[in-house]
Amino acid sequence: MERLAKIVATIGPASDSPETFAQLLDAGLDVVRLNLSHGNHEHHRQVIQTVRRVTRERGQFVPIIVDLMGPRYRLGTFKTFDLHVGDQVRLGDSSVEVDLPVEDSAFLGHLKVGERILIDNGKVEIEIESKEEHRVTARVLHGGPVSTRKGINLPDSELPFTISDKDRADIAFALEQEADYIAVSFVGGPGDLDAIRQVLRQAGGMLPLISKLERKKAMSRLAETVQASDAVMVARGDLGVEVPLHQVPVMQKRIIATGRRFGKPVIVATQMLESMMEQPRPTRAEASDCANAVFDGADALMLSGETAAGSYPVAAVKTMSQVIVEAEGYGSAKLLRQHGRQDASDLPDRSPTHIVPGALEEFHFKKSFQEHFEIPDVVCAAAVQAANRLHAVRIVAFSQGGFTARMIARYRPQTPISVFTRERAVARRVQLVWGVRPLLIEHEVDHHDEVVSLVDHSLFENGLAQPGDVIVILMGDPIAERPLTNLLRVHRIGPG
Ligand code: PGA
Ligand code: MN
Repeated sequence: MERLAKIVATIGPASDSPETFAQLLDAGLDVVRLNLSHGNHEHHRQVIQTVRRVTRERGQFVPIIVDLMGPRYRLGTFKTFDLHVGDQVRLGDSSVEVDLPVEDSAFLGHLKVGERILIDNGKVEIEIESKEEHRVTARVLHGGPVSTRKGINLPDSELPFTISDKDRADIAFALEQEADYIAVSFVGGPGDLDAIRQVLRQAGGMLPLISKLERKKAMSRLAETVQASDAVMVARGDLGVEVPLHQVPVMQKRIIATGRRFGKPVIVATQMLESMMEQPRPTRAEASDCANAVFDGADALMLSGETAAGSYPVAAVKTMSQVIVEAEGYGSAKLLRQHGRQDASDLPDRSPTHIVPGALEEFHFKKSFQEHFEIPDVVCAAAVQAANRLHAVRIVAFSQGGFTARMIARYRPQTPISVFTRERAVARRVQLVWGVRPLLIEHEVDHHDEVVSLVDHSLFENGLAQPGDVIVILMGDPIAERPLTNLLRVHRIGPG
């Protein structure tokens, strides 16, 4: 059985050799993530070269996500010590007398009395009691050791979304390297994405944006933030510090449901197989967590330290893949029992009026909003129904930008989805989407009958369909005018 949910793996020192990377591909890696909080451009440039070369040699399409550090705050340099409940501490700029110096004190001005400061993934918690020019005085609520360069989270504070010089340089780097996605850390809402897109435009390009949902503010504006994104990530690491941890599992479900509603891919991230940093086998809870992300309907599951810096990067991908396949076997059997063959109608809210484009300028149309989304959505829903009733072996999207693939995938059909595209970048990007696999076509086609015979031949040649099999093909017709999906064709594969 083909795996439907995808695997994103962070590449780092534990996995950046061509040999290990090839093993990760064999194990099931679909998408590469580079975490720009670590390493320099020189290192990331080498990794990108390796990824592009190895995947090209193997004829595979693997998108690269460049993950920006974003406005992350840290403690400065000092000697490790312990904080105890009830202690009073001074936190601030190292130019004045403080117990806890901070790396960059620009954020201090936004803090207010009564707000909490969380240190080292929320392990230590202090509450601000008074404020001066360059420092705050705070009471310790949860004690523990504090040390140099530990991260700071400010869940209660009204902080502006700032784009640092480092982020600007990293955005330019992503464009120069032809990365496939940019992941934006600490997004607070649609305006923050506009700001990143502005920087991209100034740097002379555009890339699809993945919003990392890890702030309370973004969660309170979830629908509009998802709509303004090209994809989203349930960034459970920081989210679990910024909101009460017990809310995270429900938030994961809400984010995934919202992503499906708007046709935006959702990645579930952080600590999915954390214990595999040091152990060759995961905990039972981690195996269950991966399976449950599949049951929730995630497009992709992400590995962070497990593949970037852990001792068992290949085993981590293999384990994740096995858990996903097993979960999907159970999930689809159950779905079939519950819904008969009518899963296209099981989405709670599929009104196309809620769908607006992400900023990736993938369609250049000036026609009415209705025509943009209602027609493709109706055609995609019909395709899923048709594929179910006819036991089709494939739904094929002849896609100019990957939009159709996302619109089909949001129905989570039983039938595998193939995207035919002439663009390598599109072939790479659709790999993030649930159940979607790309096929690159070399030559120009300009009539829908040519599309049908091309699809017929390539599916057969690639062993993806046999003579007599039914396939459902979607395209925008007339092809030369590049309209959104408006044509559904049911086809039986020829005698070969
Ligand atoms: P990070 O983002 O690993 O870059 O912090 C993911 C998360 O916070 O979960
Ligand atoms: Mn984060």
